[in-house]
Amino acid sequence: MSIPSDISIARNARKKSVLEIGQALGVPAADLVPYGHDKAKLSPGFIESLEVRGDGKLILVTAINPTPAGEGKTTTTVGLGDGLNRIGKRAMICLREPSLGPCFGVKGGAAGGGYAQVVPMEDINLHFTGDFHAITSAHNLLAAMIDNHIYWGNALDFDLRRITWRRVMDMNDRALRQFVGPLGGVSNGFPRESGFDITVASEIMAILCLARDLADLEARLGSIVVGYRRDHSPVFARDLKADGAMAVLLKDAMQPNLVQTLENNPALVHGGPFANIAHGCNSVVATRTALKLADYVVTEAGFGADLGAEKFFDIKCRKAGLKPAAAVLVATVRALKMNGGVAKADLAAENVEALLRGSVNLGRHVENIRKFGVPVIVAVNHFSTDTAAEVEALQAYARTLGVEAVLCRHWAEGSAGIEGLARKVADLADRGEANFQPLYADDMPLMGKIDVVAKEIYRASSVVAEKAVLDQLAAFEAQGYGHLPVCIAKTQYSFSADPSLLGAPTDHVLPVREVRLSAGAGFVVAITGEIRTMPGLPRSPSAERIMLSEEGYIEGLF
Ligand code: ADP
Ligand code: MG
Repeated sequence: MSIPSDISIARNARKKSVLEIGQALGVPAADLVPYGHDKAKLSPGFIESLEVRGDGKLILVTAINPTPAGEGKTTTTVGLGDGLNRIGKRAMICLREPSLGPCFGVKGGAAGGGYAQVVPMEDINLHFTGDFHAITSAHNLLAAMIDNHIYWGNALDFDLRRITWRRVMDMNDRALRQFVGPLGGVSNGFPRESGFDITVASEIMAILCLARDLADLEARLGSIVVGYRRDHSPVFARDLKADGAMAVLLKDAMQPNLVQTLENNPALVHGGPFANIAHGCNSVVATRTALKLADYVVTEAGFGADLGAEKFFDIKCRKAGLKPAAAVLVATVRALKMNGGVAKADLAAENVEALLRGSVNLGRHVENIRKFGVPVIVAVNHFSTDTAAEVEALQAYARTLGVEAVLCRHWAEGSAGIEGLARKVADLADRGEANFQPLYADDMPLMGKIDVVAKEIYRASSVVAEKAVLDQLAAFEAQGYGHLPVCIAKTQYSFSADPSLLGAPTDHVLPVREVRLSAGAGFVVAITGEIRTMPGLPRSPSAERIMLSEEGYIEGLF
């Protein structure tokens, strides 16, 4: 049986009006702010009114290290949400908003796949409710105010060489990575080197996703460090009096977006920070709201569990006081075979030995998640090329770890294909075994925190850093930022900083090349290896194949 493309399945969805979806959740009509017929924001007043309610159970969906073979975290998050509803549970889904730029590159959409998607898929992948536009505007307003301040005399005494705030755009455009400007004469200001990042890499994206409410948002915006003086003291966004106007631009973007799955179950799709230089999870506001509205909330963290789950636990849950009840580790036979050394072209052929060689990757992620006190279950996202022998071998391996691996066919079958996992996840969450704790304490030195993650999660033998990096960390601590968690930017393809080391590498060294302060978001970023904050497009971008059909439908968005 062949499955239609994601976009044609999404187009044929039997959507309900978002008013109906909101009504079923008990959102009063006045508190549901529709953006068209199938998207709506929830009012701040309604969210505040939920404060008195108890919380549902939070379930994290994470994955083994990604390979080009695909894992399907978003697809499984949506499928599991539908599966829980199918077995009679009140469940909601919380996802990130996709970034527009990558849709036109290689990635395609990020609203799930097959019969496990959130809709309207086209809108969610493109302009949606304008949140990213608002973030871009707020970010660039601050950039404009910096250059304007310098133009009018630089009363704050910025060191022009040490302005850290760049500009952003939600497009993959490598031509903008680095530039010198403003050029063109006296009336344009003072030339300096700067550049653009993609909007999802903006600190404002991370702030929006970690802020509890509008007041917290404004306070965090004010705390952004935009640059330094010659004496190395920081200049804050609030010194430029930018925080108020930025909060105004972000007022609506702070409100979670309600949409539905193909099976008409509620989903909040809100915020989308990078998972390398930021924490890679949807907004705290959306997650907390969903926990008040549903008994089970299924949410995704970006990349593999070494990055995504670690940051979900150590940054998001720590900061927002969330207590996850269970984790679902998504694995595919294909990706495990790749971890076991099989080339992409040979993935369709059965290869139990390679699968077992690659399964050490899964094993280590299971161990790691348990270190946070969160019980875990494995979801085997079924691909049509998987053989029964491969699936059985994987399940037998999982049993040796004391974890269950449940075969799921939600991509091909929707909720009917994931009932088994849904029952087991609900049981696991209900058993109350979770005893969540972050990996390290707030008061540990910053380098100590990096060291703990490197050794406990990545299994590096040591961390190396130049003196300049260590001095910078010491300076952050002297400025009062030592209590912040660390956000490690590392390749998603390996436990190590070397993307070619698949499986479960040991004895590798984690090189910390640079550290950056995200004072508004509330973490210190440690960069290991090449991390791009402005992606480029491939030789033949998917933009070449995206178009409007004669009937006005969007084609080519996968
Ligand atoms: P992630 O969230 O881990 O990046 P997604 O859930 O977005 O992954 O899935 C990536 C792509 O893989 C999507 O285009 C989706 O349609 C496809 N996909 C996911 N699961 C399956 C499956 N079981 N069979 C075939 N394609 C799948
Ligand atoms: Mg995803």
